[in-house]
Amino acid sequence: MSLRRYGLSTTAIHGTPRRRPDWTPIAPSVVQSSTYTNPVGSEEEVLYTRYGNTPNQVALAAKYAQLEGAEEALFCASGMGATALAHVAVLRPGEHLISSSWIYGGTRRFFDEELTRLGMQVTYADPEHPRQWRKAVRKTTRAIFVETPTNPLMRVVDLGPIAHVAREFGLALLVDATFASPINFRPLEHGADVVITSATKYLNGHSDGVAGAVAGSASFVEEVRRLLQVWGQAIDPHTAWLIDRGMRTLAVRVERHNANGLAVARWAETQPVFSRVHYPGLPSHPDHVHARAVLAGFGGMVGLELAGGIPAAERALKRLKLIAHAPSLAGVESLVSEPRLTSHKELGPDGRAAIGIPDGFLRLSCGLEDAEDIIEDLRQAVGR
Ligand SMILES: *Cc1c(COP(=O)(O)O)cnc(C)c1O
Repeated sequence: MSLRRYGLSTTAIHGTPRRRPDWTPIAPSVVQSSTYTNPVGSEEEVLYTRYGNTPNQVALAAKYAQLEGAEEALFCASGMGATALAHVAVLRPGEHLISSSWIYGGTRRFFDEELTRLGMQVTYADPEHPRQWRKAVRKTTRAIFVETPTNPLMRVVDLGPIAHVAREFGLALLVDATFASPINFRPLEHGADVVITSATKYLNGHSDGVAGAVAGSASFVEEVRRLLQVWGQAIDPHTAWLIDRGMRTLAVRVERHNANGLAVARWAETQPVFSRVHYPGLPSHPDHVHARAVLAGFGGMVGLELAGGIPAAERALKRLKLIAHAPSLAGVESLVSEPRLTSHKELGPDGRAAIGIPDGFLRLSCGLEDAEDIIEDLRQAVGR
């Protein structure tokens, strides 16, 4: 069942296109007001920015819900805010969550440090062994969490068997698909109940705003809205406007991110200085066949292993001219970071090696520059 009447590009620009009355501004306005007048004696909910019910917040959520094919959506102050509220919405104290072990470091910290403090249990399952999911189910299990594609190895998890377990035991399946964006992958079409995204990344796409979103059934989003109001997680109207502006070009941007990611990965794989290149669009990637079946594009994120380890990585990073050394991803400009010092710092060298992230690993976010320029910058940085 698709709730989207128009194509993804049209939807990303217009939401639901409507005939405009004469003299209507084409660009939406930022309504930068924290509060609104309300009718005397009215018992309706007041309009207030912390409630997430003001014009920029509402318009943005409606558009994102359509892109994901969801009944409803809601924006939060950050991707982590969205992750936190989504889990607190589906889990009660004493209940149990099964999480994929291949997840963003911030999410892992939220599970281990905060969910457990709220009286919930979390255990981890290895997506490579689908039988582990069924085995991990307890009487108290309520939900399953999966991230795909993963950071930084770009593993593309097969949601099929996991969604099957979720249905069999009546569990909610929550999926963080930040790395794909709804242009490349829409989890709700693959058996997920809830999709979570860091809107800081592809939705915004210009490295100038921080936000997150959840999408799913109306009743789920209603519960997240209740939490958003009391935990103070609403997105600011100006940031909502920036994300909306970014989303108008989402489809064309992601197409170029896909093209640049593929071009850089194909080039890097021919260069002996890189001992391994992680990109789902390459036949050498362990999930290539599955990725081809489920993704509309392979994205702009490329994992590069330098044969020379940390010294080679640091030397290359210092020589880059175009590609900036910075965390985060999915902006118009190419960025590179080292998981050992950012997203996977907590694990230590052995912990990282165990999950396939050796020292000397660079995580490249290919921007929208000319592919030849990105490649040339890498070439001169890793050259003699
Ligand atoms: C960045 C990121 C987050 C967190 O998003 P913020 O907007 O920084 O809070 C969560 N999940 C994934 C996969 C991310 O890349």
